[in-house]
Amino acid sequence: MSTTKEVKRNKKGQFIRGQLPWNTGMRMCSPQWNGGETTQNSGRVMAIVGYKDNGQAIYRERSRIRAEEILGRPLISDEIVHHVDGDKSNDAPDNLAVITFTEHNRLHKNWLYRKHRPCKRD
Ligand SMILES: [Zn+2]
Repeated sequence: MSTTKEVKRNKKGQFIRGQLPWNTGMRMCSPQWNGGETTQNSGRVMAIVGYKDNGQAIYRERSRIRAEEILGRPLISDEIVHHVDGDKSNDAPDNLAVITFTEHNRLHKNWLYRKHRPCKRD
């Protein structure tokens, strides 16, 4: 994830506020700073994958990043990363299943997976 270390500057060559120091200083001391990951209300863990030109963080679902690492290729939009045990914060390789959107819908109709809401696409 080399993009996260990219230093962004505005047109005047100044560092964009919020960009630096991205991995040192006050951010490390912040209780909200946990290595660039954030957990949504839904339980999905989002990881920072880069920054927009305005300094806003770009998040992606950590499970999708993990799955792409395992597959060695980017996921297509029709592919869903399903959490086998229903725990969306458990991104262990054996808990991730890459299946199509259609298959995923079918899977969640099964009683086993009714307890957790369908995993979403990006
Ligand atoms: Zn699922």
